[in-house]
Amino acid sequence: MNSLHLKSFTRCKRKAWLDFKGKKSYEVWSPHKAIDKINQFQVFSEFCNGKIYTGLKACENGYQGVIGLKIQGNLFQNINAEIRPQLLVKTKGKSKWGQYKYLPAVYKLGHKTTKEHLFDLAFCSMLLESFQESKIEKGLVISTFYKKVKVEEIYLNKKLRKKVLNVLLNLNECLKGSIPEITQDRKKCTICSWQKFCDKEAKENGYLTDIDGIGSKTDSLLKANGITNTQTLASYSEKKLGEKLSKFKDQNYEKASIFIKQAQAYISGEPFFISNKNTEELFEKISSGFYIFDIESNPDEKHDFLYGFLKVNNLSIKKGDLIYEPILNLKKNKGESYRQIIEILFSQKEWPVLHYGETEKISIINIAKELNFNFKEIDSLSSRFIDLHTLIRKSWILPLRNYGLKTVSNWLGFEWVQKNVSGSKALYWWIQYQITGNQIFLKKIIQYNKDDCFATLQIAEYLIKNRLKKN
Ligand code: SF4
Repeated sequence: MNSLHLKSFTRCKRKAWLDFKGKKSYEVWSPHKAIDKINQFQVFSEFCNGKIYTGLKACENGYQGVIGLKIQGNLFQNINAEIRPQLLVKTKGKSKWGQYKYLPAVYKLGHKTTKEHLFDLAFCSMLLESFQESKIEKGLVISTFYKKVKVEEIYLNKKLRKKVLNVLLNLNECLKGSIPEITQDRKKCTICSWQKFCDKEAKENGYLTDIDGIGSKTDSLLKANGITNTQTLASYSEKKLGEKLSKFKDQNYEKASIFIKQAQAYISGEPFFISNKNTEELFEKISSGFYIFDIESNPDEKHDFLYGFLKVNNLSIKKGDLIYEPILNLKKNKGESYRQIIEILFSQKEWPVLHYGETEKISIINIAKELNFNFKEIDSLSSRFIDLHTLIRKSWILPLRNYGLKTVSNWLGFEWVQKNVSGSKALYWWIQYQITGNQIFLKKIIQYNKDDCFATLQIAEYLIKNRLKKN
């Protein structure tokens, strides 16, 4: 076992097992991992003033920052282990190499220092101590905050070391055993490279967490009441379930009905119609034209790097004739991109702006505030935004695991021009574009955003076409 398995284990036992024993062909490349690696290298490089070197020779030469080292050793009870320190930082002391020693450091995304960081540091220090023949009292957690490198010192005390040793023993047992269960907290799965593999198994076994809105707590609650799979849930009485869902307080009967209908839809593959109140309104509002709007962003930097508009004069126009306009937001031309956005939005003052999810509206309101729009102007602009994600959930229960843009539009038969794409992949391309300046990455991002706009359009068409349907 190695430090990567420990990192996975603290998130999901099954992930550690799959990383160790799983068939690699079932694993999907994760843009998150790649983005993390790039960010990590940039931050470490800044922290060490560019003095980062690779491998054992770098330690022997006493360089400031060392990466890419793999150290094997023996934990107790003859357990072989390997550490892969993210970064070793030279400090005062005495080691087998001379009058200096190294401390382990890890990269942190965001503000919170988690178990993952602490365990990684403690595990690394255990093998590094005997390897460099010098004691390690502390490790470093390195992150950036408003573009500045931040360093937190973590004391690797006895208590922490003991805790990690216990976790390592559990990890060792887990890796020797059979594949662990799928995690109850399926939110963790969204950025996992094994998601496709686990999703398939969850569906085949009727896992309750496959049902939209059922998280780990509701899952346990339902199981405690004898509802162990989607099949049982689908045939359960709404009244009885409502009585059991006391944790939802006043909404328990409503929730019970939604969960049961959601399970029925999921199993049968048939959507369930709720109401046409909102879709009728949508139909009226878009009759004389509308925009579809979608943004691509880097959430860690709070930066929207692309705004895409699709101009739809009416729904009967051929798709190939619609005008799509991408607006790139390079930090240095922010003012220019804002001007273009406002120009588009105000060239058709009455047109509604359809989008999927809440970020697009929030982003435009922030731009309007930055441009000193008054309260009334902001209010009138924001009233033009229609969130199809909210609208579809109020109108339909779909036979799907979630209501994300990809899931819903895929179900409607929409296909992205580029295969296996996602918002995080677009972000990965954006980072690559910034590093290399290669226009290919930009083209890929724009194609992706254009497809997102057309996917949103397909959902709008579905809502309009089926607004008069009854179950
Ligand atoms: S997809 Fe989910 S359950 Fe499967 S390994 Fe990843 S985090 Fe664990």
